[in-house]
Amino acid sequence: MRLVKLIANLGYGSRKEIQAAIRNGWVTDCGGTKLKPDSKTAHEDILFDDAPLDPAPGMVLLMNKPLGYTCSTKDQGRLVYDLLPGRFRLRKPPVSTVGRLDKETSGMLLFTDDGTFLHRVISPKSDVPKVYEVTLDRPLRGDEGKLFASGGMMLESETKPLKPAALEVLSETHVRLTLHEGRYHQVRRMFAATGNHVVTLSRIRIGGLELDALEEGSWRLLDETDKARIF
Ligand code: URA
Repeated sequence: MRLVKLIANLGYGSRKEIQAAIRNGWVTDCGGTKLKPDSKTAHEDILFDDAPLDPAPGMVLLMNKPLGYTCSTKDQGRLVYDLLPGRFRLRKPPVSTVGRLDKETSGMLLFTDDGTFLHRVISPKSDVPKVYEVTLDRPLRGDEGKLFASGGMMLESETKPLKPAALEVLSETHVRLTLHEGRYHQVRRMFAATGNHVVTLSRIRIGGLELDALEEGSWRLLDETDKARIF
């Protein structure tokens, strides 16, 4: 792909603006050589304004989502996209969240511009486990683990039973729940169906990938090893 289109598609500016940036010498290789519009320099060796270019298309990002942020591009209030560089909103192909977390859920949130990756994680046929840490308003009744694992649980206004989910009890109001699907407000609705109420909810693992030491509100690019851990 020509340099102008490549950089414009990363959201750095319009094609006209990128042409001007190249003319002004703001686009260089790592050795400081000014690039021309037809340069064939590898993506990872291109600098824009002395900084490495953003990741090439096909990227997957991991964010530690804070509470109070919405997984939407246009809601009012704070959006998870506000925590990424502004130009990420202008990228082609577009960047989207891999599924959603509720505004009042924290933890692991993936973003990608790779449709195949997105589908592999969130399609109803996907079997990627997602692990949530949950604190509850009331002590467990005692039968939740059996009910969730049964594969027969129905949520209100749904026609298909939930896939079996695994409950790990840490205390009578603190659990880990592993889901193999991602229905709307699923964790909250599962506990509501048992007469309980979720007080805090955080996603701590997707497949074999954990949140590790990412600070709340920060994000990092996943490498191939990280991505392989998911599946
Ligand atoms: N289940 C929920 O209820 N909310 C989330 O954000 C994720 C899973």
